[in-house]
Amino acid sequence: MQVIKTVKALQQYLAGKRGLHNTIGFVPTMGALHQGHLSLVNKSADEQDICVVSIFVNPTQFNDPKDLNQYPRMLEADCLKLKSTACDVVFAPDVKEIYPDGKSNQQIFDFAYLDHVYEGRHRPGHFKGVGQVVSRLLRIIQPNALYLGNKDYQQLLVIKQLVKRYLKLPIQVIGCPIVRENDGLAMSSRNMLLSPTQRKDASAIYNTLQLVKDKAESLSPEQLIQLAYQNLNKVKSIVKIEYFALIDAQTMHPVDEWNNQVEVRAITAVQMDHVRLIDNMQIN
Ligand code: AMP
Repeated sequence: MQVIKTVKALQQYLAGKRGLHNTIGFVPTMGALHQGHLSLVNKSADEQDICVVSIFVNPTQFNDPKDLNQYPRMLEADCLKLKSTACDVVFAPDVKEIYPDGKSNQQIFDFAYLDHVYEGRHRPGHFKGVGQVVSRLLRIIQPNALYLGNKDYQQLLVIKQLVKRYLKLPIQVIGCPIVRENDGLAMSSRNMLLSPTQRKDASAIYNTLQLVKDKAESLSPEQLIQLAYQNLNKVKSIVKIEYFALIDAQTMHPVDEWNNQVEVRAITAVQMDHVRLIDNMQIN
């Protein structure tokens, strides 16, 4: 496994591999890797010849400077974890390598409705930053396939739109299952910022999603959302429920009545002190 820090060196490496007709799978991450990330790496390595993993904490997608400052950074430990997988290249650039013309001088993508709801509404400018970094990385790497987690479900839909509508690149975008801790909490780099009590309480997010799924046959969408709020409100460590919603999995429009033709997901974001946690689950 190679660790490459510059765009030039990465492109040289990939040109050699492409010349030999290897396919390239790409897993973008912000590091502090856990089994969720590694599941994407394993899937990419199973399906493509070469697996590239990027580790880059992208400053332009953080609307909250405190969140950016406290985001865990541990490149050496991450590389050790990746060494035990079939990852071929870790691309770990610094900010100047990704934004040589400066962070503010970037193309702005408009994701329409997705920019204004749920994550877009609670993290203004977040998806603009995601669009900037992913477009830059895809133009550098030009992978055959991009592996993303369903954990960041709205981000997955945003990136699908970016690839198809704006970049018009022939890249397959593959959404992969959410990997969870034993108590159901979705793995996240932010979990390590939780206190022991918050960490224990955080399993309520999964339990609430599961409860909503279990009751979906007998309750209306409105009743389910009420039940979810009641459940989450009981949890001491949750200081704010930003949203809990039932959405059409293709469009993210809210679902207010059941329709067998529509795939429904429950999505939620909560705050535990200064840590924000998101999760989602397919309901039908
Ligand atoms: P991040 O490092 O948080 O930007 O995440 C990098 C990629 O890993 C994104 O595509 C995430 O959706 C994915 N990911 C993060 N957590 C999980 C998880 N628990 N299960 C599956 N994929 C995940």
